[in-house]
Amino acid sequence: MTSGGQIGVTKTTCCIVGGGPGGAVLALLLARRGVAVTLLEAHPDFDREFRGDTLHPSVMEIMDQLGLADRLLELRHTKVRTFTLQTASGPFTPVDLSRLDTKYPYITLMPQTSFLEFVTGEAQRYPNFRLVMGARVRELVEEGGVVRGVRYEAGDGRHEVRAVLTVGADGRGSRVRRLAGFEPVKTSPPMDVLWFKLPREEGDPDGIVGRLGRGHIAVMLDRADHWQAGYVIPKGTYPELRREGIESLHRGFAQLIPEFADRVEHLKDWQQASLLSVESSRCPRWYRPGLLLIGDAAHVMSPVGGVGINYAIQDAVVAANVLSGPLQESQRRLVDLDTRYLATVQRRRELPTRLIQRAQAVIQQQVLARALRSDASFAPPLFLRLLLRVPILRTIPSRIAGFGFWPVRVEE
Ligand SMILES: Cc1cc2nc3c(=O)[nH]c(=O)nc-3n(C[C@H](O)[C@H](O)[C@H](O)COP(=O)(O)OP(=O)(O)OC[C@H]3O[C@@H](n4cnc5c(N)ncnc54)[C@H](O)[C@@H]3O)c2cc1C
Repeated sequence: MTSGGQIGVTKTTCCIVGGGPGGAVLALLLARRGVAVTLLEAHPDFDREFRGDTLHPSVMEIMDQLGLADRLLELRHTKVRTFTLQTASGPFTPVDLSRLDTKYPYITLMPQTSFLEFVTGEAQRYPNFRLVMGARVRELVEEGGVVRGVRYEAGDGRHEVRAVLTVGADGRGSRVRRLAGFEPVKTSPPMDVLWFKLPREEGDPDGIVGRLGRGHIAVMLDRADHWQAGYVIPKGTYPELRREGIESLHRGFAQLIPEFADRVEHLKDWQQASLLSVESSRCPRWYRPGLLLIGDAAHVMSPVGGVGINYAIQDAVVAANVLSGPLQESQRRLVDLDTRYLATVQRRRELPTRLIQRAQAVIQQQVLARALRSDASFAPPLFLRLLLRVPILRTIPSRIAGFGFWPVRVEE
């Protein structure tokens, strides 16, 4: 507790800013390895509406390696094995995870809140872990060009955490990234997504349903008791859609998915929808002495393939693999962390990130942007249809969707 404008100072080995999937998993992994960790989360709770709720096979395998997968799967979730698009020539399934050789051949759809509470709950079992909710980081503590921690505001005043390593895991609008002087290089994808809920009814299909064509794209995610619907619109056209009124959204959606025409009426006003401004960017550099960025703070992912959480968690695993030993050493001998370890984390994660962002850009430009521009029904590109016919090649899209370009493992 602080009073009279004084700042309360605490010390730790690793201070992680942001309790999203990347920050929470890194905190758990470091805590397990005996590293003193403080996790600072700006929000008072983990409640998230319309954030990524998808845990891909790679994340489930990581949880399995930690001995946590079975308990995680006891929480309420649905499993999605296929992604099917209705096209002019019938259903088209580019991703079928059930073909993959893994214990978890599906996407686990689980509210992000449950996942984050589960992971931080596990971390709380270690006495060297400290979680501060409602802690909004405002400044970096810097000495001679080295980041030595952060200052944050909480309900009980201002605080300072001093740390050997500060990790910016504070998401797409990362304040840590800005304070550290990093400028992400942006690509501007041609779309935005409106997310909203629609009721589920008896006899509805399972899994993910997608429709493209006639200038719009719709995606429906099966959430057991409701559908999470995504309506893709050309970039920057949201104000125009709002001016036209909610009926315009009803009409566009019903044209695309006629069997949901009556249900879209449940969307009565714009407050029930959440706009995701689609972004894709990457920082040229993810580290400075005493500081590392991971997850969306280092690279904002386009929603194509829903790999943002996957990649944030894979960054966390690689960071823990590379940094646990050196951080234990810094903790024991009270010495700085060699910046070369931070460079190693970026080196191992940058290529997989570049590759997936390239693949997402191709899909956005070749498939999604065309569908948004065209009045015709969507027909899948020839190269994709051919690829999916060749037995040895047809699991490639599913493998990339499930594991990314570079699967990672927790090293003990
Ligand atoms: C509407 C929407 C839908 C999405 N759908 C999907 C999907 O279906 N699948 C998928 O994989 N990805 C999806 N994503 C992307 C996905 O949510 C992110 O890629 C992923 O959450 C990144 O994880 P992260 O840990 O890096 O950052 P985040 O999850 O963004 O977490 C950052 C955390 O930092 C906290 N924070 C921010 N600033 C501060 C501060 N100053 N001090 C302290 N804490 C701070 C935030 O409160 C937040 O909890 C979606 C994103 C959005 C916006």
